[in-house]
Amino acid sequence: MEILFLGTGASVPSRHRSTSCIALRSESDIILMDCGEGSQRQLMISPFSFMKIRAVLITHAHGDHILGLPGLLQTMGLLGRKEPLAVYGPEGFAAPLKAIMDATEGETEYPVEVVEVGHGSEFSVCRMRITVFGTDHGLPSVGFIVSEPDVPGKLNREKALSLGIKDGPDMARLKRGETVGGVRPEQVVGPVRKGVRVAYTGDTRSVPAIAEAVKGADALIHESTYSSSEEPLAESHLHSTALQAAETARKAGVRCLFLTHISNRYDDCRDAVLEEAKAAFPETVLAEDFGYYEITRRSVRAIGSQRSDQLEHVGVGYDADYLPLFGYEDSVAVCHEHRHGRHRGVVGDYGIGFLHDLRYAG
Ligand SMILES: [Zn+2]
Ligand SMILES: [Zn+2]
Repeated sequence: MEILFLGTGASVPSRHRSTSCIALRSESDIILMDCGEGSQRQLMISPFSFMKIRAVLITHAHGDHILGLPGLLQTMGLLGRKEPLAVYGPEGFAAPLKAIMDATEGETEYPVEVVEVGHGSEFSVCRMRITVFGTDHGLPSVGFIVSEPDVPGKLNREKALSLGIKDGPDMARLKRGETVGGVRPEQVVGPVRKGVRVAYTGDTRSVPAIAEAVKGADALIHESTYSSSEEPLAESHLHSTALQAAETARKAGVRCLFLTHISNRYDDCRDAVLEEAKAAFPETVLAEDFGYYEITRRSVRAIGSQRSDQLEHVGVGYDADYLPLFGYEDSVAVCHEHRHGRHRGVVGDYGIGFLHDLRYAG
């Protein structure tokens, strides 16, 4: 699963951070988690395609998590989306969303299904399974765990052959869990490997129930509005500190922690905030806008910043395939070298090219 941070700021946009929005991608399907003001502009200058968004998950109805959604839904309509889109959020979020859509004549031609969910709800989006957990933020609020499917155990072919199983359909039956000719699957098939799981808290006070809910996730994306020097503020505003997020990660036994929803008061001392968390949980990353990570069962890989308008900074520049998109002419480029060369690249629905790893480009 890939994580692309599109907005990592708290409450208001700043020069360095847009408001909350995180994209998860599994194969080519994208789930958007929260959609603060400015999120569609962030998407446009990212490598992810609008049209591959299969669902939007909203943690709560504060403006910095939801105000980008009406615009995004309307833009998708203008771009000719036909495929239905599901939007999941906590109790009570459907009415204000509908009110904004109605007030701005934002009716879409494609179906938008708005679903209210609560602690314990489960649903699927393409191959991903989503579990909902409760959070504590002074209004109906939830967090989400997004899981890829479990991977079947590996078949030990040599051992199966030695037990008299022939190559072909019998091997496949064993792998599916059937007993074949007296050979039981557990004799020749390894244990099921858990699919990758990514958990996101949205805004919340630090409460023990969160560690319980996200136990064993591969990655935890936790809000981190304050540093521990301002813990009383975090408590009174129903937010968390970096240290509290790290303690939750440690208790939950996750593999890595991403801090997001960072107040702009820490623009000049982000390292101190990060160090505070790392002291309690070393595998911590302080997320930045356009930070892009790949989470597998084996590793967490930073792929580097994914702003396509940074192409020039790595000496590639725009070439003949440059395509303007929605007037944002300075932000979209396609690179021949990249598409046809040794680096992996993708051309999106609207001819959006991107560099998969800017560090190696050019
Ligand atoms: Zn917020
Ligand atoms: Zn909030």
